[in-house]
Amino acid sequence: MTPRLLDDWPAIAERVRAARSLALFLDFDGTLAPTVNTPGEAEIDRSARAALRALAANRKARVCVISGRRRADVLALVDIPCVKYLGVHGAERATPAVSQPAADMVQEARHELTRGLNGARGIAIEDKGIAFAVHYRNAGHREINDARQLLENIATAGQGSLKILRGDCVWEVLPREIGGKGETARRLWQSQSPTSLPIYVGNDATDEGAYRALAEGLTAKVGAARSTHAHYLLKDTREVARFLERLREEMT
Ligand SMILES: [Mg+2]
Repeated sequence: MTPRLLDDWPAIAERVRAARSLALFLDFDGTLAPTVNTPGEAEIDRSARAALRALAANRKARVCVISGRRRADVLALVDIPCVKYLGVHGAERATPAVSQPAADMVQEARHELTRGLNGARGIAIEDKGIAFAVHYRNAGHREINDARQLLENIATAGQGSLKILRGDCVWEVLPREIGGKGETARRLWQSQSPTSLPIYVGNDATDEGAYRALAEGLTAKVGAARSTHAHYLLKDTREVARFLERLREEMT
């Protein structure tokens, strides 16, 4: 059974105080902001925003928001200075991280899927430039199965150049060369502040790789106690806000 993070706070606070600095990685949807039906309306809780702003301004903490959304999108929604923003599961950064042939391959796959689906009900394809997402929350079983089959055929024809991440009612299709959130977070931590304590908070299946990649650090999953590689659970985005507030207190 995965323990609740706030129940174990004295031990965690001790680790935070002992660390020279923190490398804090946060997912956006379902972690910093409650999940909403209209993605453009997602909003960070006010107390989480205040704590995040203070942590970002603290010289002993590096804050990175890593999302499946486009980078520009997550930057506009968070909009706090001194935060590093990574979009499309770490593939989209301030500088290009994907080769042109890989990006072209993804676009080709997206066009093929769009043609093949031929406007199937309830399936929405989101173009993310260097990746695309297939949202099926509003589709029926048959449409979902057909879309899955089509996508698998396209991925097979791509001979391993594409990677499919399974999220919450979404398939994310990325170039294989993108390692996902786990590889990205680990590399950033190692290259920027290898002596710092890495902390990762997420909520979705696409965050599981990051819990594994940062197993030496402190990892937490937001939501119910289904099987997870995270060390701890946080109940909801309000508990994330409380966690960030406590971190801020320990860091001042
Ligand atoms: Mg999320």
